Amino acid sequence: MRIFSHLCRWTAERCRLIGRTDLVARVSPRHPSPDQLQTGSLVVVRDGTLDKWACFRCPGGCGEKIQLSLNQARRPRWAVRFDWLLRPTIEPSVRQLNACRCHFWVKRGQVHWCHDSGHRQVPKRTNGAWGR
Ligand SMILES: [Zn+2]
Repeated sequence: MRIFSHLCRWTAERCRLIGRTDLVARVSPRHPSPDQLQTGSLVVVRDGTLDKWACFRCPGGCGEKIQLSLNQARRPRWAVRFDWLLRPTIEPSVRQLNACRCHFWVKRGQVHWCHDSGHRQVPKRTNGAWGR
């Protein structure tokens, strides 16, 4: 089933039916070790039926490991869901407080940068204003 999802997503991307996917979700019963966590993959650590953590590497180029708590009883917490093409959506946005200061949303597998992100890929406005 996973292979089918990957194949459909790849084909849909190639045919430009959907945008390029930045993050692809997979579920694991265990935390991924640093070398198991590849750029572009989001690992949902699931214990039985309970989603506990979402782990992925910062898409801002720094590669920092990001771990989001999915435990709804704790703060801060995030919610991750993914469609049948394994494209994750994360709510709310992710803000890195380390040196990279990345701030972004993940919607259907795509990273959307916030204007206040410290990330260099944020498109500069021609008038020099960042806006809100
Ligand atoms: Zn970063």
